[in-house]
Amino acid sequence: MANNIKRYYSKHIDFFDLLQKIKLWPSKNGTLHGIKKIEIKGNYAEITTHCNEKFIVKKSKKSHAARWMRNKWYRSTCKKCKIPSWKLEKYSTTGFNQNYGAGLININNTNNSN
Ligand SMILES: [Zn+2]
Repeated sequence: MANNIKRYYSKHIDFFDLLQKIKLWPSKNGTLHGIKKIEIKGNYAEITTHCNEKFIVKKSKKSHAARWMRNKWYRSTCKKCKIPSWKLEKYSTTGFNQNYGAGLININNTNNSN
């Protein structure tokens, strides 16, 4: 089924690259916001959400947000951001190979196995 295609990102993907691809931000209380703008300044990024919140995040794979994004956790979505359902769907079908075990998925071989 075409809509069952999963996207896998390497766990080594740059956290900011990931944010730019997914364009979603899980805040500390579990609300998922849509990212309107992301401006990368070295090890920091300035994020503007669709509800016009602006904040600075530090590049870290161990951060709260990085963990939440890897696990695709969120409690609710921001009503002001109005995240489209296709985006949430994309988020929920995005896999990270570390969750599946290194032996199961080799992202370098996806062209050969398909
Ligand atoms: Zn928001």
